[in-house]
Amino acid sequence: MKPVVAIVGRPNVGKSTLFNKIAGSRISIVEDTPGVTRDRIYSDASWLDKHFTMIDTGGIEPASKDEILVQMRRQAQLAIDMADVVVLMTNVKDGVTANDRDVAAMLLKAKKKIVLAVNKVDAPGDPPMEFYEFYNLGLGDPIAISSTHGMGIGDLLDEVCAKFPENADTSQDDDEIKVAVIGRPNAGKSSLINKILGEDRVIVSNIAGTTRDAID
Ligand code: GDP
Ligand code: MG
Repeated sequence: MKPVVAIVGRPNVGKSTLFNKIAGSRISIVEDTPGVTRDRIYSDASWLDKHFTMIDTGGIEPASKDEILVQMRRQAQLAIDMADVVVLMTNVKDGVTANDRDVAAMLLKAKKKIVLAVNKVDAPGDPPMEFYEFYNLGLGDPIAISSTHGMGIGDLLDEVCAKFPENADTSQDDDEIKVAVIGRPNAGKSSLINKILGEDRVIVSNIAGTTRDAID
């Protein structure tokens, strides 16, 4: 199996923007409203000759504020369980937040291979002073990136690929069969997929239209 890379982090740090940049198409919904990516999404991706699977994690748009955090943590936990390497995404505009510390602690506890990305470093040259604050997360050297401008992403992916397990199969697999489940909102698609896959891969809600993004 190809290595799995998950991007986790607070809503609105730029996870989906990075995901789309690497996946090469606009698969994830990018919006100014925090919590817009409602489910994890998967994409085949590659860097140089290395092929891997990438997951964009995110919260759902919930009825209450509490529900966002609960769902986010669940999504992050599922990504932690499945990923070989986790990219923890933060951004230089907000600095280090309590939520970043929370997720960092979660990842460290899970003993994951972690790459720390500091997004929204949009100006070329030396990163701003605030960038150095991210060393405090204790996750090693942060990598400055700008997802919208496409800067630093090569360095980030070098770091990600360096952390793949030694026996990882990074060759291209063209022989996998892809199945799509389609149907009316609320017909029961997500419940069926969860049943088959045996895990909470899709957020199920009786609010019509909850799953907004495509899920493989
Ligand atoms: P997500 O919630 O973590 O998936 O974040 P999104 O990818 O949806 O991005 C949230 C907002 O941040 C959007 O308005 C993006 O255009 C913006 N954004 C993402 N990456 C960058 C970046 O590198 N620089 C700047 N200035 N804005 C960014
Ligand atoms: Mg998103």
